[in-house]
This record gives sequence, C-alpha cells and structure tokens, in this order.
Amino acid sequence: MNNADGAKAGGAESPTNTVDSANSANSASSANSLNTVDWAAVRAEFPILDQEVQGRRLVYLDSAASSQKPRAVIDALVRYYEHDNANVHRGLHELSTRATTAYEGAREKVARYLGAASAEEVVFTRGTTEGVNLVANTWGPANLRAGDVVLLTEMEHHSNLVPWMLLAERLGLRLRHVPVTDEGLLDLAKLPELLTPEVKLFAFTHISNSLGTVNPVAQLCAAARAVGAVTLVDAAQSVGHLPVNVQELGCDFLVFSGHKMCAPTGIGALYGRRALLEAMPPWHGGGEMINSVTFEKVTFKAPPHRFEAGTPNIAGAVGLGAAVDYLEKLGRAAIFAHDQQLVGYAMERLAGVPGLRIIGPPRGGAQRAGLVSFVMEAAHPHDLTTFADRYGLALRGGHHCNQPLMRKWRLPGTTRASFYFYNTTGEVDRMVEVLHEAHRFFR
Ligand code: PMP
Repeated sequence: MNNADGAKAGGAESPTNTVDSANSANSASSANSLNTVDWAAVRAEFPILDQEVQGRRLVYLDSAASSQKPRAVIDALVRYYEHDNANVHRGLHELSTRATTAYEGAREKVARYLGAASAEEVVFTRGTTEGVNLVANTWGPANLRAGDVVLLTEMEHHSNLVPWMLLAERLGLRLRHVPVTDEGLLDLAKLPELLTPEVKLFAFTHISNSLGTVNPVAQLCAAARAVGAVTLVDAAQSVGHLPVNVQELGCDFLVFSGHKMCAPTGIGALYGRRALLEAMPPWHGGGEMINSVTFEKVTFKAPPHRFEAGTPNIAGAVGLGAAVDYLEKLGRAAIFAHDQQLVGYAMERLAGVPGLRIIGPPRGGAQRAGLVSFVMEAAHPHDLTTFADRYGLALRGGHHCNQPLMRKWRLPGTTRASFYFYNTTGEVDRMVEVLHEAHRFFR
C-alpha cells in the first residue's frame, strides 16, 4: 500500500501551460495569459492543501463539490472584518460607506466577470440553488400559466429540477427533459420535438457535475430564443473554470455559487437580463428592498436591490470579488486548458485500472470538463470513496444530486474525481495507484 503514498503536496509534478492571448475569450484574462502560469507557485497560495489527512499527504480531488480558497481571498475576508465591517446602504458613517463601497464594488466585478451589460443585472444570492429558486418564485408565477412547458435536461442537478417540480405542482405546468445519450451528451436530435412553442423556459446546466459534459450553451440559447422561450443557465460548474460571457452566450438568466470558484460559501449570484429583472416582482420582503412603506402600502426598489431583502452576506460578496480578481489574474482560458490537460491524463491512466468504467463523454476536446466519474465493479461508490479517504484522497461518491439519471442508468452512483488548477499530474498518479489497490482489495 505504500506505493500510493509517493506524491508530496507541493512536490508532485505540476503541469505548466503556456496560453496565448488568442485562446482567451475575455480581455481581463488576455492581458495575463501572455504569461506562462507557474502552477506550482499558484498551488502554494492555497494553505489548506499543505497538510496530511489520515497520516497521508492530502490529495484534494473534490473541487466540483467545493473549491479551496487562496490566501488572497482569505486575506480579503480578514481585512474586511478587521477594517471595514459595518452594515451596508443605510449607514451615514465612514465604516458603513466603506462596507457599501466594498459590497457594490464586488457586484461591479461580478458583472464584468460575466460580461453583463451593467451591475444592476447582478443579484447576490446564497448560491446556485437560491438563484434557481428566486427565478422559479418570481419570474415563474408572473409569466407561466397552467399547461405551459418548462424544458429541463436529464443531467440537471436536483437544484435545477426540484424548484421546477414544486412550481409545476403549484401552477399546473408540464415538465420535459432533454434525454442524455449513453455517452453522457445531450441528445440534441430530440431537441426539435421537445423545444416547441409551448416551452416558456429552458433551464439547463452548462457543465454536468456528475458527467463532466460541457453543453453547447450558445446553441441551446439560440434554439430557445427561436421559439420564444426564456433561458436559465446553471453555471455552477463553469464560471470558475472557463470564460463565460452572458451576452455572447445569449442567455436570459445565469446562476452560480461562489464556493466552487475560490470564494466563500453562502454567496453566489443570479445574472438576469435587465428587462426581465425589472418586470419581476420581489421574492423576500424586508429591509433594503423597499423605497417606502406605510401601514397600507409598500413600493419596491429597482433591481438588483429589490431581490436582496435584509442584511446581505457582505463579507461573502467581498470574498467573491477577491476570487474574481484572483481568477482573472490567472486567466480562465489558462484554467480550462489546465483542467483539460489533467482530465485527459486522468482518463488515460484510469483506462488501465482493472474493473473500472468511466461514465460520461469519451475523452477529447471541449465536451469534457475537468472532472471524471467512474464505477468499479465489486465496489459500491461509497465504499470506494471511503477506501480512498484512508490514503488521504478526497474523492466524492454517490448520486451527486443526479438521482433520476443514476436511476435511468441503473447505477448506485459513481465515484468522482474533480480537478482545479491547483491539482497536479502527480496527484492523478496517486489516485490511480490507490484505485489499483482498491481493485485488489474489493475483488
Ligand atoms: N448545479 C450544479 C451543476 C452543481 O454542481 C451544484 C453543486 N453541486 C449546484 C447546482 C448547487 O449548488 P449550491 O449547492 O452551491 O447551491
């Protein structure tokens, strides 16, 4: 079993990418992408990775569940609490002004990061789940009637299924699902018969958290527009990993979580096209979201504040702003290239593990993001993942909030390795060694 212990946290080989500006789809990253990224130095900026768990070097391959945080983000949180902390918007004192500037400054950063037309199109939320629920509970009842269709896909996370199921029950909507092929791709041949004029909303994921599939967002948005349907993109797995520009993609709504892109938990955002947000009623009622209140009548602020009742997660937003700065400095095109290099290498090496079957798109190109799901015959995903933990390997095992798809494929779940720019080929080697060991153990 010692052969699984080789790699040191900082010492494992680190792939290095040189990315030229032509690869970069946004200007912020293109300035930086002229440089070679020293990924080993970048990794050293993540203090949590430099530790042992279960007496072994930690190998963290669970970033699709939640990413680790660089020193720059941790420092931004500490700085905020040590120097600027106060409530936002209503204070007439210096600290409140600073907190408001920091909070609204973070909104500007997120807007720029997403390519939104203005910061007013960015609503802070707790994360992806809250973003979907916000749209389902505000845009939904205002725009949907009994018999209308909401189109989803079979690869949606529960957070982009259940809110629509709840709403369908409330309003008498019909739900349809774009099927997933055996290769883990959306079956686009079925789209014309599913995406009909009765479809009022098409909500789909950019990257599948269980399969690693990268969906053709711009193509899907254009197809939805052609039948007059509004689009909602679940970008939980994409915004921290590749360039995302809402105007180029042509989506109406886009939701994501900060914690999967180096920011703290409890903060995320909903992007909404201004005209749609302006026509939406509020969701939660309370302070911050009103213009005036009498005992009889209330008037509401314009978006985005209309949708941010109560004291928001100010420190979280500051952390998200710092994460945006950090990722833009690295360059998202460079991050995606690094992800692809690692996942390509992992799939090659996993193919040599006996009894192991990879789930999702076959290797190759832009259809596969930086994660790989697999099943090992003779080992339940939970047992395999627990076995790996004994070697310091953080994988994820289970249905990945994708129960309907797992059921369709008669899988108890999968084991998933998900990569970020701080992972190394040495860590992939270590995982493969542990999986060989697991095969010997379980067989
Ligand atoms: N959608 C996808 C594709 C996800 O991967 C996740 C998180 N696993 C979510 C939605 C939900 O995100 P959160 O729990 O941060 O709201």
